[in-house]
Amino acid sequence: VKADFVKLTTPNGFTYEQPTGLFINNEFIKSHNGDTIAVEDPSTGQKLLDVQSGTKEDAEYAVECADKAFNSSWSTVDPKERARKMLKLADLMEERKELMASIESMDNGKALRLARGDVGVAIDFIRSSAGLADKLDGRSIDTGDGYVNYTVREPVGVCGQIIPWNFPLMMLSWKIAPAMAAGNTLVLKPASPTPLNALFFASLCQEAGIPAGVVNIIPGPGRGVGETLTTHPKIRKIAFTGSTGTGKGIAVKAAQSNLKKVTLELGGKSAHMVFNDANLEKTLPNLVSGIFLNAGQICSSGSRIYVQEGIYDRLLPAFKKYVEETVTVGSPFDEKNFQGAINNKMQYDTIMSYINVGKEEGAKVLTGGESVGENGYFVKPTIFYDVHEDMRIVKEEIFGPVVTISKFKSIEDGVAMANDSEFGLGSGIQTENLSTALKVSKMLKAGTVWINTYNDFHSSVPFGGCKQSGYGREMGVEAFEAYTSVKAVRIKL
Ligand code: NAD
Repeated sequence: VKADFVKLTTPNGFTYEQPTGLFINNEFIKSHNGDTIAVEDPSTGQKLLDVQSGTKEDAEYAVECADKAFNSSWSTVDPKERARKMLKLADLMEERKELMASIESMDNGKALRLARGDVGVAIDFIRSSAGLADKLDGRSIDTGDGYVNYTVREPVGVCGQIIPWNFPLMMLSWKIAPAMAAGNTLVLKPASPTPLNALFFASLCQEAGIPAGVVNIIPGPGRGVGETLTTHPKIRKIAFTGSTGTGKGIAVKAAQSNLKKVTLELGGKSAHMVFNDANLEKTLPNLVSGIFLNAGQICSSGSRIYVQEGIYDRLLPAFKKYVEETVTVGSPFDEKNFQGAINNKMQYDTIMSYINVGKEEGAKVLTGGESVGENGYFVKPTIFYDVHEDMRIVKEEIFGPVVTISKFKSIEDGVAMANDSEFGLGSGIQTENLSTALKVSKMLKAGTVWINTYNDFHSSVPFGGCKQSGYGREMGVEAFEAYTSVKAVRIKL
């Protein structure tokens, strides 16, 4: 049954047709049992509309369609044709850039100026991936034994992709683009609080002429749609971004079902180190983008700041002043705001309870420490200092605009504190000394080391974690290759 499009107006005045159906085989359809998800605007707490919520049966139907498309219209076409379709899709997004940014802010609560950046990253990444489509190359291997040997890279098949709510469109692009470019077909599940741009993107796939069944998008519960994708015997790879607990469950189920490939981008508690010789003027904005960008709802957030003792007393008041002046909180559509709303009530409650835990644990509040406003889910940028390394606010991922500051003496002490975490996603170094930067970057246990910058991504540079932050990489040729498998051919002459 065909699903409706609903006329929506964003708070900044764009009126558009929002698809509300599951996107399967190039059609927007109603779910099997008629279930829906109520989508709200986190800056007001008001309901926007209902979208269809997929079931196990819907996910199975989508996998069948993706499987057909894989064999008939996508893995078998000229890779240049795949690239052309993807470039067309990126162009259509470019034409709707401001609308898509507005949808993102309305659905997620993030500041519009950040949402614009997200849309730009998504478009850029789709283009960058399209450029890889015709570069599925292999190696030739001289074994000196009268044989010719070579390898080819082939797409893995139907992929299941599950994403969280913090970067709804950017995460979608990081998952979909390399999979499509390599010739795979896919079924993606957006997070339930943020399905709007994923479905709007689906309408652009239709318009771009992407063949039916290549891209399927099904909002729905993790335990229904998500689990069906994780355990489905026809799915050959599952790519997941979300919490470490859910990721572990997915790895187990993926192995038990059919040993599908797994990529996991999970949580973090990343350390951001400031050395005595850091340039304060450059460091302050880096600390801010480290923890307050997207209201701290970034897996790689620099949520533990480690400051060397020689700069500690200067940094604290300067950081407090800079944050109070620049990290303005409020309506995502007010251009002056740096930080919008927290995405959902549950996350807002989690953050507020961590702030209370920090106070109860005896940490001191440098700034913030409370919510703002009557409606919606707004939290002030919060800095704790005088913390102990065993406090929960130092150990556990908060996923909000809350940061701790600790002091260290020597490089070795600082690195030991930074590495004392179960996670290993991002890390940061602020220093003007090249050898400190390079030495410490080797010592830190993390998937990314940012030096004199932070939360700074590029479509050609791989991103991912180690330890309990997961495995596999997004972006770069690494992500593209992770959507392929290697076949070796050995010919006796
Ligand atoms: P979550 O793990 O609860 O949910 C993520 C996604 O998984 C959602 O789409 C959800 O519906 C789905 N899901 C839930 N249970 C499932 C199951 N049993 N089987 C299959 N799918 C299931 O996480 P969240 O609360 O939405 O997101 C916040 C967390 O994600 C944070 O811990 C954050 O660190 C992490 N995160 C990591 C990255 C990264 O790149 N490493 C990026 C963003 C968020």
